[in-house]
This record gives sequence, structure tokens and C-alpha cells, in this order.
Amino acid sequence: MITIAIANQKGGVGKTTTAINLATALAAIGWKVLLVDLDPQGNASTGLGIASNERDRSSYDLLVGDNGVEELAIATKVPRLDIVPATVDLSGAEVEMVDMEDRVTRLRSKFAALPEGKWDICLIDCPPSLGLITVNAMVAAKQLIVPLQCEFFALEGLSQLLKTVERVRTGINPELAILGIALTMYDRRNKLSQHVADDVRACLGDQVLNTIIPRNVRVSEAPSHGIPALVYDLKCPGSAAYLSLAREIIDRLPALAKEAA
Ligand code: ADP
Ligand code: MG
Repeated sequence: MITIAIANQKGGVGKTTTAINLATALAAIGWKVLLVDLDPQGNASTGLGIASNERDRSSYDLLVGDNGVEELAIATKVPRLDIVPATVDLSGAEVEMVDMEDRVTRLRSKFAALPEGKWDICLIDCPPSLGLITVNAMVAAKQLIVPLQCEFFALEGLSQLLKTVERVRTGINPELAILGIALTMYDRRNKLSQHVADDVRACLGDQVLNTIIPRNVRVSEAPSHGIPALVYDLKCPGSAAYLSLAREIIDRLPALAKEAA
């Protein structure tokens, strides 16, 4: 199973939106996709129409408890897309994990116990912090996608994020690679958006994915209907951009992954 964490300690940069729509695009081409919601706010779960009463067990049990991934994953309305939902319990998880000896490898161990072929790919939607939950995602994943909002201060905090990646690499997961930086919420009427996009490219070069996700009201409406933007309005510019982003991501994945597509 390919495992990709979607992380940025800033809130509101498009992590969850990217997780939901990328997961949907990959499921649409036939991949068996698992989304793990690791944000106590549970936006990915809500955005995929998982009601609170369907979340009796959650990613909290994955990190803190003894439950395996298979018993916690539930189907979404999107064919081939399953989710381990999140509940507010997760906000207490870091405190509960801090004295556990295996606190940074708990998620990785749960994934390691999965039978081959159950899911082709797993996307992990991280919370807006660089704490133990995000570190668990970085340890469990081989790849990282970092959404950056095309706003002033887009790059602020990125060096801290990269330092955390470096620490995870040297400590426990040398294979962790940055698959791509995704520019989100681009407003073509706003000159600042253009400046930020140019700046980020000048700074980070090839690491930045070519696809830019535009700011699009249809994308922001979709979660309140409990469906991905790609299902809510396949033809809107935001959906088109997420399809293009998915194609780019597949192209950047190691050869083995592409054969599955
Ligand atoms: P994060 O998970 O990083 O906190 P979200 O994906 O939840 O960020 O996005 C923050 C807010 O911005 C949400 O209300 C979401 O619906 C909205 N949003 C995200 N991407 C877009 C977009 N491309 N166009 C318009 N609104 C967007
Ligand atoms: Mg989020």
C-alpha cells in the first residue's frame, strides 16, 4: 500500500480538501483508497458524509487503542473509498500517547499488520500541528504532500515543517520523500496570488506541482453536502484542477504504483 501524508501545520490551507478530492479521483480510476482522518475536527469525515453517530470507533482507537485498520475503516458513498473517521477524542490522544514507548510508530505498526492488497493507497489527512499525530503520519508514510495557500505568509512555517521531515528521516523513516507541494486557493484576479505562486516556485522549484488549485466557491460548498467537490460538481474549475493534480501525483509515484493504475 502506498501511503501519503497530507501535512502543513497551518490550518485552512487546503489539506482536507486535497485529501478528499485526491482520494475521490484515485478511487474513480479504480484504485482501492483508504483515507485516514487524523484531525480531531473530523472535517474529512464530515466532508465525506460520515455522520457523528457512525463514528463510534475512530482514528483515536487506531492511535491509542488496540484496534486494527480493517475493523475501523468504513465505506463512504464514493465507491472504493473507505475512511477511518475522526472524533474529538483524538484531541486527547497526544497526551495519552506521550508515555508510550512506541508513540511515534503506532500508526506504522497498524499499517504493517494489513494484508497485502486490501487498499492500493492510503491518504492521511493531518491536523494543523507538528505534534505526535502528524509525526505518526510522517513515520507511517513514504510520501508527503504539502498544500500551500496562495496567500501572503504562504512560506511561513515551511522551514519548521521541513525540519520535522528531516528529523523523521534521520530518526526513523529515511524513505520519507516530499512528493509535491500543492498550491491551493489561487485567485487569478488577485495579483498577490500570482506573486506568491511565483515566489514559491522560485524558492522550491521542482518540488512544486504544476497544477494550481483555484479558489472556487463550488469546492467550498461541497463539504456541507457531505460529498467531494468532484462529485458535487465534476465540471467546476476546482474539480478539474483536482483531477489534474491526481494525474500529476500518479506520475510522480514510483513505477510500481503506476502499474496498479
Ligand atoms: P485545512 O484542512 O488545511 O485546514 P481545508 O481543506 O479544510 O483546509 O480548507 C479550509 C477552508 O477553505 C474550507 O472551508 C474549505 O472548504 C475551503 N477551501 C479549500 N480549498 C478551496 C478552494 N480551492 N476554493 C474555495 N474554498 C476552498
Ligand atoms: Mg483539515
